[in-house]
Amino acid sequence: MRVTFHGVRGSVPAPGPSTARYGGNTSCVEVELGDGSRIVLDAGTGLRELGKKIPAGPTRIHLLLSHTHWDHVLGLPFFGPLWRKDTEIVVYPLASDAQERFRQTITLFDEIHFPVGVDDIPSTIDFTKPSGNVWRIGSATVTRILLNHPGGAQGFRIEDADGSKVCYLTDNELSAKTGVVTAPDELARFADEVDLLIHDSQYIKADMPAKVGWGHSLVDDVLELGRKARPKQLLLFHHDPDRTDDQLDQIRDAARTWMSEHAPDCELDVATEGTTYDLPAR
Ligand SMILES: [Zn+2]
Ligand SMILES: [Zn+2]
Repeated sequence: MRVTFHGVRGSVPAPGPSTARYGGNTSCVEVELGDGSRIVLDAGTGLRELGKKIPAGPTRIHLLLSHTHWDHVLGLPFFGPLWRKDTEIVVYPLASDAQERFRQTITLFDEIHFPVGVDDIPSTIDFTKPSGNVWRIGSATVTRILLNHPGGAQGFRIEDADGSKVCYLTDNELSAKTGVVTAPDELARFADEVDLLIHDSQYIKADMPAKVGWGHSLVDDVLELGRKARPKQLLLFHHDPDRTDDQLDQIRDAARTWMSEHAPDCELDVATEGTTYDLPAR
């Protein structure tokens, strides 16, 4: 399995010199499976960059959305393959009202917000309706779980036939006090021993209590999740738009120190736009 980060930022794109190293595009992660199937996790502005690398010709994209907040769908109108006749985009259910929510998203192509209307999209968009919470996509098994986020969100665990595994959990508030749909211990079991655990790490202690209930996690809580879930690698993701590269360096260094003491077998990194992880077969 190959995992590539095209967008790692949360809330709103944050371009500029202070975010250039980690990247300013919003959530979009590509997962290439052993059988060649391509899964896209979220359609933030990073999707535009991904679109540029997909060669012309018949293409099928499996689109898994955590939810439909702006930062997870804004790349759609700027996704090159969307404007090709021979592209098929398979959209998987959302946490609730899948088809209706996606329809409302795509109808933002309404000639007020975008110059081209939804009826003029040449590619094929298929709404697949697999039952339950475990789905087959190509050579992989995908399992979903509900997350603690205003309006609802879902996370995914993807296991390829060769045994490689990735878990993608954003936007999620690990220390949510109200309306908890999934407790941290259950998430740790869900993410148990994956190769790569990607988790929303938007906030640090100094952001609190102002951002309690906003649906995102403290870095410290993510490290604790990593200690329990024992992934080979833990990646801090969905960076706050105001977090500079230098601040992310500091967060990374402090997080590595903590992990070396509490979970020495787990490598820690900060998700960076443009990086690729090749997960070996097990
Ligand atoms: Zn988000
Ligand atoms: Zn959100």
